[in-house]
Amino acid sequence: MRTGHCLCGAVTFELAGDLIATAICHCDHCQRQSGGAFSVNLVAHESQLTVNGELRTYEERGENNDDVYVRRKFCPSCGSPIVSELAKTPGVIAVKAGVLDDKSAVAPNVQVWCVDKQPWVDLPGMAVSLDRE
Ligand SMILES: [Zn+2]
Ligand SMILES: [Zn+2]
Repeated sequence: MRTGHCLCGAVTFELAGDLIATAICHCDHCQRQSGGAFSVNLVAHESQLTVNGELRTYEERGENNDDVYVRRKFCPSCGSPIVSELAKTPGVIAVKAGVLDDKSAVAPNVQVWCVDKQPWVDLPGMAVSLDRE
């Protein structure tokens, strides 16, 4: 059982079971939300995650403010990103690896949105996909 918490501790969570993937996302939006060069995501089914505490949701919409495609959920107190829901693949979530209590077992195995990758980032030996996170 993986456990985690936001920076301030108001939100804690448990993530059970096997992961679908551990994906590095280089997209511009993940760079903005994380403040870093990419996000590290534990991709799993929604039913595997139990969140304790209140999350606020930022809905990302397409170019014309049309359909929601990502719901980014974060701690309203400290702003730590906790989990994103991928609206185009209902039931699939991406838990942010940086908020795990124990990050020693995190093992990214795919990277996506490499079109937005910072030129100084080089992650050898990982599969590449151009799909959304
Ligand atoms: Zn917090
Ligand atoms: Zn992304």
